[in-house]
Amino acid sequence: MVLDNLGSSLRGSLDKLRGKSRLDEDDVQEIVKEIQRSLLSADVDVSLVMDLSDSIKTRALEEEPPGGTSARDHVLKIVYEELVGLIGESTDIPLESQTIMLAGLQGSGKTTTSAKMAWWFSKKGLRPAVIQTDTFRPGAYDQAKQMCERAEVDFYGDPDCDDPVQIARDGLEATEDAEVHIVDTAGRHALEDDLIAEIEEIESVVQPDLNMLVLDAAIGQGAKEQAQQFDESIGIGGVVITKLDGTAKGGGALTAVNETDSSIGFLGMGETVQDIERFEPNGFISRLLGMGDLKQLSERVERAMSETQAEDEDWDPEEMMQGSFTLKDMQKQMEAMNKMGPLDQVLDMIPGFGGGIKDQLPDDAMDVTKDRMRSFEVIMDSMTEEELENPRKVGASRVKRISQGSGQDEETIQELLEQHRMMEQTIKQFQSMGDGDMQRMMKKLQK
Ligand code: GDP
Repeated sequence: MVLDNLGSSLRGSLDKLRGKSRLDEDDVQEIVKEIQRSLLSADVDVSLVMDLSDSIKTRALEEEPPGGTSARDHVLKIVYEELVGLIGESTDIPLESQTIMLAGLQGSGKTTTSAKMAWWFSKKGLRPAVIQTDTFRPGAYDQAKQMCERAEVDFYGDPDCDDPVQIARDGLEATEDAEVHIVDTAGRHALEDDLIAEIEEIESVVQPDLNMLVLDAAIGQGAKEQAQQFDESIGIGGVVITKLDGTAKGGGALTAVNETDSSIGFLGMGETVQDIERFEPNGFISRLLGMGDLKQLSERVERAMSETQAEDEDWDPEEMMQGSFTLKDMQKQMEAMNKMGPLDQVLDMIPGFGGGIKDQLPDDAMDVTKDRMRSFEVIMDSMTEEELENPRKVGASRVKRISQGSGQDEETIQELLEQHRMMEQTIKQFQSMGDGDMQRMMKKLQK
């Protein structure tokens, strides 16, 4: 995750402020130093870092915390606002017909992003098409075609044609039924004149509404030059940062946003078509600071639940929340959780859970949890429908049979049953809660 270190190191300094109601100069100095260290090691441009830390320092010392606010919350709020200010608004992506062209160096993730963005638009109810004009990189055509098939979106490319401008022209014609056109272009290892000439020519044919620069999160200071050059030739209106699942950097991309006076539109979080998120500065910074991101979380949960339900129409999550909670419900929930993506990303979005608590878990804790989920799945596959619906019927002899059938030891089966009992109780508590209780709990979580 971009600037991941910032979240954890900052929390350390902030925790030292617990119990204090006023800040002194030393406190502020220490926090500002942490911020500088993290931002610089994440490759954010030095002058940006200095501007940011100056304003945090001034505000933290001069602004009077509102009555009842602790020193810690006061600083956290200022850091939050300043970081949101640095990153700026998300690129405006209207949900209507439009053409978006992607630019960037080879390997930055353009082809992957084109299919991911098309998938994103299709989930918003629009009909997208990807036009693949990369004739330079062998394999780009097949890769794009396969990903678009997986995303179930229209695709145009021509492996027999070596003129990208011609492909762009033919592509627009062939996909004229689509509402959103995403045009993928070729990259090179470096910014060469012919790359710039080619992209300018494609642009004049395609006439995009928006040009987006695709940047690998791991890119360092090189981002500045790339951003400047692409901006001069075609004008960059938005940035996509890719591979955020694999790096703690990402500061180079922030520098590029600043350099082109543009904004971030999307984040790439993995290699499959669903691994894309719309960039939301508030949620992003909240997550970074360990304050969670409820909006992304609820979107992911909703998507995963409805996908799981679509696969099995007999299962209704609403019923689960109202009636009894069976092992079958638990099985479906686990399927839905698998669809939500890697557990550590999901935990980051839960207020109070990301960062702080997660950092204290041993490194392999996530793997253990994943292994445990896998064992539970195998066990549930070995159970009969009757047992799934009535877990209380699973006594010692059934445990033995399930153990033999699933190849899992009896202890793990007992753990699964125990886990189910605990979840059942939690759900019962939810069911007996009034709206007021629920709101109080959400407020507590958001703190
Ligand atoms: P292009 O040359 O700019 O079109 O780049 P590609 O789309 O081919 O991406 C280059 C490599 O990065 C491929 O192996 C992709 O699978 C991988 N990739 C792209 N986006 C992401 C991402 O968000 N996360 C991860 N982990 N890998 C990515």
